Amino acid sequence: MFKGIRKKLFISHLGVAVVSLLTVTILVNLVMYYAFTKYLENQRMSAANNIVEELAFSYSSDNKWQVVSLMGISHRAMLQRIEIYLYDLEQRLIWDSSAATMMSSQAGHDLELSLDSPENLKFKMNLPVIKDGVTVGSVELITYSNPFHEPEQQFLTLFNKLLWMTIAFAGIGIYFFSRFIAGGISRPLIKIKDVALRLKDRDLSQRVTVLKNSDEIAEVGIALNYLAEALQTQEQLRKHLTADIAHELRTPLATIRSHIEAFQDGIWEPTPDKLQICHDQAMQLVHLINDLGELAAVENPMLKMHKQPLLLSQMIDEIVKSVHGLWSHKNISLQINIAPALIIHGDERRLKQVFVNLLINAHKYTLEGGKIIIKAMQERSGIVIEISDTGIGIEAAELPHIFERFYRGEKSRNRKAGGSGIGLAIVKAIVEAHGGTVSVKSQLHHGSQFSIYLPA
Ligand code: ADP
Repeated sequence: MFKGIRKKLFISHLGVAVVSLLTVTILVNLVMYYAFTKYLENQRMSAANNIVEELAFSYSSDNKWQVVSLMGISHRAMLQRIEIYLYDLEQRLIWDSSAATMMSSQAGHDLELSLDSPENLKFKMNLPVIKDGVTVGSVELITYSNPFHEPEQQFLTLFNKLLWMTIAFAGIGIYFFSRFIAGGISRPLIKIKDVALRLKDRDLSQRVTVLKNSDEIAEVGIALNYLAEALQTQEQLRKHLTADIAHELRTPLATIRSHIEAFQDGIWEPTPDKLQICHDQAMQLVHLINDLGELAAVENPMLKMHKQPLLLSQMIDEIVKSVHGLWSHKNISLQINIAPALIIHGDERRLKQVFVNLLINAHKYTLEGGKIIIKAMQERSGIVIEISDTGIGIEAAELPHIFERFYRGEKSRNRKAGGSGIGLAIVKAIVEAHGGTVSVKSQLHHGSQFSIYLPA
């Protein structure tokens, strides 16, 4: 039999069908019962009225009631299962149809026996007999009848029988219908479950095949695929990160090690030049570790930003002064175009880090005689800060990757600019932690423009 969803669907379908069919059965029975009872009552009333009219017709003022016509009326009444007791104005019984009919034929016996049977209902009616507006007597009519006539009874029995058969057929139909529907629902769900289990076992290449008719289940499949994609990307990033860190550590460490070994073996004297090289390499490692620590901190979703209102022009002035010392002596002009009253909301130390990184890059990748422009604009929902340079630019193919950690453009690698490829990853993480976005436009050999949007 069914299990899980199939079982639940089968039970719910069956429940709905049985309840509806039973409701119909009860309603039909009730309607039939009341409609037929009313109908029978009307029939009895019209039969009684007919008899009273006929009795009035058979009465004549001279010889009173005509026995022959009374016999005729009684006979017809008997066929309708009606007994007639006719009384005169003094309440004396002057005609008893049952006695008359009993004497007249054997059929009357049979009829009277059957009329007395217990399942028959007995109705009594007392009506006046009126001839030409004058009451000439009264009549007691006794009618016997089944609650339902035979055909109606048969109809109801057949109807009920058919309904039970319908319920049985519906049960069988619903069994197959539920199987079909539940199969349609549970099959993709089972596939999704299988994929989720394989993902759990770290088989991250697994995906759900989503059919075109997208319902909620297909959406669950799509969501799972997204999740798998994200997990796979994260997994790859993690592997690359480890490899990248190893790679970044290897070169400076190898340099330091070879120098120290040369000093130990007496091959080299520890001259200030050689010691400076060791120091530079050690500082490169220190920067790398600091950058990685900073990135890990900013990417931590639990990190609390100490946001406060900051006067942008003042902050940029301070940053420019502080990076000036880091810039090599190149003839590069700097233009700042920021409205003095512009205020941004953010973590001062972290935002300074963003602008320092962008300005150091702009300077690093701009050639002699170039220009750096810092601009800020108030937009409706926040502030946009643009840092543009007339530097070497970035190749279109490299643009999507420059915010990845450890990504270094071909040019910067060749030029041995010294960066570790983490600067822009930190920029992106800090800006996003402020609810903002960072984007870049660049043209090779013409320059780059980094735009930061910070919400108000
Ligand atoms: P790096 O330490 O190598 O500068 P970043 O993460 O700061 O690392 O930058 C990543 C890469 O983006 C750089 O290697 C360089 O190729 C490119 N890049 C960043 N800023 C600029 C710029 N202003 N002009 C040209 N290229 C840039």
